[in-house]
Amino acid sequence: MTESVCPVCGESLAGIEFVCTDFYVSGEKFPVLLCPGCGFRMTGSAPDAENIGRYYQSEEYVSHSNTRQGLVNQLYHAVRQYMLGRKYRMISRHSGLPTGAILDIGAGTGYFLKMMNGKGWDTTGVEVSEQAREFAETQLGLSLLPEEQGWVFPDASFDVITLWHVLEHLPGPGTYWEAFNRQIKPGGTLFIALPNPASYDAGYYRDYWAAWDVPRHLWHFMPGNIIRMAENHGFYLHGICRLPFDAFYVSMLSEKYRKSTFPVMRGMAVGMASWLISLLSKKKCSSLVYIFKI
Ligand SMILES: [Zn+2]
Repeated sequence: MTESVCPVCGESLAGIEFVCTDFYVSGEKFPVLLCPGCGFRMTGSAPDAENIGRYYQSEEYVSHSNTRQGLVNQLYHAVRQYMLGRKYRMISRHSGLPTGAILDIGAGTGYFLKMMNGKGWDTTGVEVSEQAREFAETQLGLSLLPEEQGWVFPDASFDVITLWHVLEHLPGPGTYWEAFNRQIKPGGTLFIALPNPASYDAGYYRDYWAAWDVPRHLWHFMPGNIIRMAENHGFYLHGICRLPFDAFYVSMLSEKYRKSTFPVMRGMAVGMASWLISLLSKKKCSSLVYIFKI
């Protein structure tokens, strides 16, 4: 599956900028294409919907249960708790609402919605993975909808729609905006978290940057790209927030991919540099949350 036209600006997508390896699962190589018109990047030769499933099966990765991996996981889980609180504060502040109706697209195992539920929000979640939906149901008592049911809500159903690191996985990123536009209430808020190819860590690791994550990430939005795509579909930018801890996780994974010695320590050091730089320059942050309103 490769689009021939840029979904952001409509220019022809001709050039391969560099070739990226799928370090996470397959070891296969995929070209990253660059739009000459707006600098938007997309993964070339990406598998279609029928074949993408196997690139999400990371049994080999999961079975690496050495202490290094354990430490990375422990840090990840500790940070996740902190980030859940940060997301809640971000949503109440920028939506201007203490509670309301929220739709989370790509809800994963449901931790975020469970937390929002506990804060009094009326929650709806859509998740493509049956395994993740089962986990949410059995472990958190949270019922998530499969993807096929995710786009049939009545107009103006939600005060807030969230996509936490999801849009970059969805085929045809332009096609979802009409649904966002319709299903969000007037004055509602859309939160889209994306990895940032303009970040310090992306520049440092170049083609080893873990957040290229080909072919699972189909689209690589620079800040200007996502803002332009939103504006094309009737939204305006309300604000941008940092997800600063992603820099540490992404940097440690990137060090692992390039087989460096002491990947955790090195990754922490680069993550720290990226974090400090993002304090001075928000658009250099490893991951950003773009907040849009209509
Ligand atoms: Zn373009």
